[in-house]
Amino acid sequence: MRLAEDLEVKGKRVLVRSDLNVPLEDGAITDDGRIRASLPLIRSLAEQGARVIVTAHLGRPKGAPDPKYSLAPVAKRLEELLGRPVRLARDVAGPDAHSSVEDLRDGGVLLLENVRFEAAETSKDDAERGALADTLASFADVYVDDAFGAVHRKHASVYDVAQRLPHAAGPLVAAEVEVLGRLEKDPERPYVVVLGGSKVSDKIKVIDALLPKVDALLVGGGMCFTFLKAQGYGVGSSLLEEEMLDQCRTLLESGKIVLPVDVVAAGAFSADADHDVVPVSEIPPDRMGLDIGPESVTLFAARLEGAKTVFWNGPMGVFEMAPYAAGTKGVAEAIASLHGLTVVGGGDSAAAVRALGIDESRFTHISTGGGASLEHLEGKVLPGLSVLED
Ligand code: ADP
Ligand code: MG
Repeated sequence: MRLAEDLEVKGKRVLVRSDLNVPLEDGAITDDGRIRASLPLIRSLAEQGARVIVTAHLGRPKGAPDPKYSLAPVAKRLEELLGRPVRLARDVAGPDAHSSVEDLRDGGVLLLENVRFEAAETSKDDAERGALADTLASFADVYVDDAFGAVHRKHASVYDVAQRLPHAAGPLVAAEVEVLGRLEKDPERPYVVVLGGSKVSDKIKVIDALLPKVDALLVGGGMCFTFLKAQGYGVGSSLLEEEMLDQCRTLLESGKIVLPVDVVAAGAFSADADHDVVPVSEIPPDRMGLDIGPESVTLFAARLEGAKTVFWNGPMGVFEMAPYAAGTKGVAEAIASLHGLTVVGGGDSAAAVRALGIDESRFTHISTGGGASLEHLEGKVLPGLSVLED
């Protein structure tokens, strides 16, 4: 893959695909992390005298303009953080985009309106996506993809436009690919993976792909109950996926899966429900496990000790409610204290790290693209990456 830093961009029109998909509440940005993460590339290109045209999506509009999903607040925040004027085109590929590109001067930054206002962006039809990609490509001399969170999508602004222009990977994409590569090819051992979150079915493909490669797979979160049930324990009213029991039994035969030994069992899915710590052999029929217990944290920390490579995806419990956050916090602390390569993937896991006040710099890498990083680890070909490779 060619890197953006190796491009000669002075006086050139550079189309940048960024991930600016920030959470909004009543039109206000509640976490500008993705805008901040996107700054280095945009700033560097502008400082080198490129004409920077940024394209990005926000939320899930239905393929038509919708003021609720306008990038206007993003353009404003980007301008503040960048310390340079950022013009927002009122459309994606229409008259305002054309004239705004026309007006752009060296060092200028233009943000096109939410690319998902065009139904063609996400269309399954190659010709429809191609037509939008033709217009986007006509705006620029070169394309740079810095939106790792979207590389698993065969979308016009991710895939098709890269086929039509000289292309390169931005620093965020390059960093993700480098770190995921280290997890996949010759990981330093011991290699321990920690999985949690809600469902086994969401993560089954990544479990299948990783299990042969790892020394141990520690399982917490809602998904541990289907494994515990497969081992013969009663799990009360905990999250259970009956249809996954057979697959869990087969996976357990690997001997690499480590399950919790105690859980926090609650009377209801609520922060003020009655709750206590019980061994996994004594989960009452009318209670649900909402976190792993302290002995499990100690067990998981012991299995993590000395690990040279760790990948963690999915919270150990319902960390959003204070009584069920200790398992996630304990395991996150254990991982953060390690000296090897430590990678956190998954939107909720990254949010948990921030919410529980753990310094993000104590991990080697926190992935910005949940779905994309899991698909990469599953060994899938990601359209947005393969297109950058040739
Ligand atoms: P990620 O986004 O990091 O990949 P997931 O989306 O798979 O993680 O799962 C996150 C969700 O799993 C969280 O909202 C959390 O509340 C939930 N969860 C964790 N443990 C449990 C549990 N024991 N029961 C129900 N939900 C759980
Ligand atoms: Mg999630």
